[in-house]
Amino acid sequence: MSETAPRVIVTGAARGIGRAIAELYAERDARVLMVDLHTPPKLRGARGLRADIATPGGRKRIVEGARTFLGGVDVLVHNAAFQGAPGGVLDVPEDGWAQAIAVNLTAPLLLTRAVIDLMPRDAAIVNVASVQGLFAEPGNAAYNATKGGLVNLTRAMCLDLAPRGVRVNAVAPGAIATEAVEDAIAATDDPVQTRRDYEDLHALRRIGEAREVAEAVYFLGSKAASFITGAILPVDGGMTASFMMAGRPV
Ligand code: NAD
Repeated sequence: MSETAPRVIVTGAARGIGRAIAELYAERDARVLMVDLHTPPKLRGARGLRADIATPGGRKRIVEGARTFLGGVDVLVHNAAFQGAPGGVLDVPEDGWAQAIAVNLTAPLLLTRAVIDLMPRDAAIVNVASVQGLFAEPGNAAYNATKGGLVNLTRAMCLDLAPRGVRVNAVAPGAIATEAVEDAIAATDDPVQTRRDYEDLHALRRIGEAREVAEAVYFLGSKAASFITGAILPVDGGMTASFMMAGRPV
């Protein structure tokens, strides 16, 4: 992998964490294929591609883009996710469950298969999982199940792609100040208290920045992480260090 100008695919790159990942790579002179359902922002050295990772046609266009614009793939970042199926085990709608499985779990598998022959021996894959793939939250069954699946898919990919020399890791972010999270906080009855509740989930008593997740993704995708594969790196301000809410005394 060329450390000076890696060739990178980032899915879900139009906003939030995916956009921050693409921006960080672009700032560091990478060539970036920014994939999203919506038009990604214009960045130097990057190309936006509107494609649905959950469809065969979308994945085919991503492979074409990777071949023509990038000429190969050094880092593949599976970041896009469907978070629109709230509901618990007894009431999550079946179509939302299916959509979550398709986007959050099946698409990373099938996009990896589609792209793998473009990846050189020392390439890397980084999956964006979640602390909710390590622990569950009441009323969020589809997200919990798919992120938990992505965590163990990361380990399966690590083992199955190691013979090709491709490393596979994941990050597990805590609450990150993206548009989606800010909108969710703003939509509550008491946004000030809700923000404080979110902050108190983390030992560092704050919400994370998208850039902080991007830095972790960049590290795992780089040569600096050349002996790291199959790892799940929490980027969570210490949320998962405690079995209590951020170690709050009871
Ligand atoms: P977001 O919803 O703001 O952005 C996700 C992007 O993915 C959107 O631009 C969306 O259009 C795109 N996308 C969705 N489905 C797609 C599809 N089928 N094909 C192509 N693009 C698609 O999300 P975010 O908050 O930036 O989160 C990014 C990732 O980080 C997700 O995997 C999410 O689960 C994970 N995560 C986020 C947080 C957080 O607090 N924001 C915490 C933990 C994990």
